[in-house]
Amino acid sequence: MPLTTIADEARIALDTVADRATGLLSPSLRVGVTGLSRAGKTVFISALVHNLVHGGRLPMFEAQSSGRISRAFLEHQPDDAVPRFQYEDHISALIDQRIWPDSTRAISELRLTIEYESASAWGRMFSRGKLALDIVDYPGEWLLDLPLIGKDFATFSQEALELSKLPGRQDVAHDWISLAQSIDPNQDADEVLARRLFETFAAYLKACKEETRALSTLPPGRFLMPGDLDGSPALTFGPLINLTEGKVRAGSMQAMMERRFEAYKTHVIKPFFREHIARLDRQIVLVDAMQAINAGPEAVADLERALTEILECFRPGRTNFLTSFFTRKIDRILIAATKADHIHHESHDRLQAIVRRLTERAISRADFSGAMVDVVAMAAVRATREGSVTRGRETLPVIIGTPMEGETIGTDTFDGKTETAIFPGDLPETPAALFRKGDEKPENEPNIRFVRFRPPALERTAEGVTLSLPHIRLDRALQFLMGDQLA
Ligand code: GDP
Repeated sequence: MPLTTIADEARIALDTVADRATGLLSPSLRVGVTGLSRAGKTVFISALVHNLVHGGRLPMFEAQSSGRISRAFLEHQPDDAVPRFQYEDHISALIDQRIWPDSTRAISELRLTIEYESASAWGRMFSRGKLALDIVDYPGEWLLDLPLIGKDFATFSQEALELSKLPGRQDVAHDWISLAQSIDPNQDADEVLARRLFETFAAYLKACKEETRALSTLPPGRFLMPGDLDGSPALTFGPLINLTEGKVRAGSMQAMMERRFEAYKTHVIKPFFREHIARLDRQIVLVDAMQAINAGPEAVADLERALTEILECFRPGRTNFLTSFFTRKIDRILIAATKADHIHHESHDRLQAIVRRLTERAISRADFSGAMVDVVAMAAVRATREGSVTRGRETLPVIIGTPMEGETIGTDTFDGKTETAIFPGDLPETPAALFRKGDEKPENEPNIRFVRFRPPALERTAEGVTLSLPHIRLDRALQFLMGDQLA
């Protein structure tokens, strides 16, 4: 089934021509920032902007480290219908209060203008360079909805049932399954029953996301992240079991659910794709791999499934919006494992290797010709520093930071004020150790001690200048995402 209609394509074409026209006046780069909830999108965007505006230490981001960026500043964003990313509030939380900012709940946007000097004598001859960087923040849950466009209600229901039988889901799916089984799809449509079906299905999806399960593939995405559709009738549906094949009786429960599912695709998924995703030039996908690793092999397998689906959405070379002759194409995708400051630097490469392994199959299966895909392990905000502790004859690498108030390890509860050294545990040397082979358990289950730290206190130089937010490999991410645009 085609993912789009000719009318959709034409509308995108017009939007894109308009974008390009604006682009002629001042070159712009639209970078999408996504990832499942709490992956670190808000923290990443805040740290990125702060480091650019305040000339942070970014040795691997060549335009900045060579001193070619003369100024970076915020400007009005071009899209009036999209809320602005609340940068000032988030930075004030991070720096003044040393608390983590409010997470992404819907789409938002920010425009940062970067003035720079071209690296080539040729470029310098013509003008001072200016790049408008449009950063688009949106929940990864919404992206995971895109594959639904190609599915009908029967396929959606069938896949929901199959997923619910996987280990790690069965026990929490129970209420939804027993309700769905009690509904005869041919019975008269019933609004109250439809709401109950939605509520039990959404409750099951939410339970799958809890920390101990940390599952990722949970469509429909708006059931978890409703944005402005919270409480809206567009969401009042859910998958049914034992569907009638062939002609569905008008006025039946099945007919009602089918209609609402189609409405969700038409009025929620497609406009989001058309208005936002199809206009992106670059994309970063943030992944909290450590949370999945800690939750066990089911969560790791599920994260792999989600990443495969996410990457499919950006795949050029297949018949979808992105391949349309007129549209822009995403030509760089960065998969970034976040929060690397929770582990010692010796494990950073291991974390990167794990995420590379998680996306390997998706990347090799999909035809990414024309698009560069890379993987990095990073911390947009580094809340810890490293040290070592001697125990007997052994020297152990530790990380030092201020655990959040109320965090515990064993019998210790932290007060949110005292700096503490923590042995973070090790990631396995080879990624294979994390994956199930058939029914076998992984060879050795990793045990990372995951403590939430407060954001760092900013250092001051001898002259009293406050330095920018510290990070790990944020500069590499920036170089990959936009280095070539500032050449
Ligand atoms: P979002 O839902 O993707 O917007 O996620 P947030 O950016 O709000 O991040 C969720 C939580 O992850 C934060 O409240 C922090 O506790 C933690 N976090 C995110 N990024 C980092 C990071 O770079 N370092 C550390 N130590 N914690 C982070």
